[in-house]
Amino acid sequence: MRRYNGAMNDDQLLRYSRHILLDDIGIEGQQRMLDAHVLVIGAGGLGSPAALYLAASGIGHITLVDDDAVDLTNLQRQIMHSSAGVGRPKADSGRAAMLALNPLIHVTALRERLQGERLAALVATASVVLDCSDNFATRHAVNRACVAARVPLVAGAAIRFDGQISVFDARNAASPCYACLFPENGAFEEAACATMGVFAPLVGVIGALQAAEALKLVSGAGQSLAGKLLLFDGRASEWTSIGVARDPHCAVCGQAA
Ligand SMILES: [Zn+2]
Repeated sequence: MRRYNGAMNDDQLLRYSRHILLDDIGIEGQQRMLDAHVLVIGAGGLGSPAALYLAASGIGHITLVDDDAVDLTNLQRQIMHSSAGVGRPKADSGRAAMLALNPLIHVTALRERLQGERLAALVATASVVLDCSDNFATRHAVNRACVAARVPLVAGAAIRFDGQISVFDARNAASPCYACLFPENGAFEEAACATMGVFAPLVGVIGALQAAEALKLVSGAGQSLAGKLLLFDGRASEWTSIGVARDPHCAVCGQAA
């Protein structure tokens, strides 16, 4: 365990100096990052840039969850993994990359598909959860766990040239949850990178923004995206912001739930 507790030493003050210089973060905000535990679900296209930025920024404890192994077809966009890592579990490959970037943090690698009580227990220990998964079953399970534990969720998605990101903050009574926007029984088509293709830097754009939202939530800097859904059109390089409200009849966070 190399988890950081206490005052920053000279190495840390230098490493994180460009955050500390920001009025919105400062020593206090950086300390909150060092004290945080961030859970990253998925070590693929979105999880790669997100986890690397969280590691570089000095999130004190990061748990990276993925049950898959690195495949040659991943390397076009999953920048946390390298050619030498093909065949290796993504969670382990990702942990090694994060610690190479910043050995001062603690990284837990879980080679499993988290479900049920294991998922609920882990989410309850997190400061923020990043959903970097690629399927609706996981997205809804993670959302339910975040609503139950009142832990903020940063959800990203990317396919072809289209990306989206939002924050669902169950600590705020006005904030919608993921299921308010995408009901569990909704007829949304599952689109996988394996069959649809994905533009490599698109996952970098969305994944980096997921890290930014997580770092803002943890440090207290700026305003979160809660209540807004950002859509990115990678062909035109255009962003669209849509206001999203809580659904009082939502099966997950509504009064009836
Ligand atoms: Zn809801």
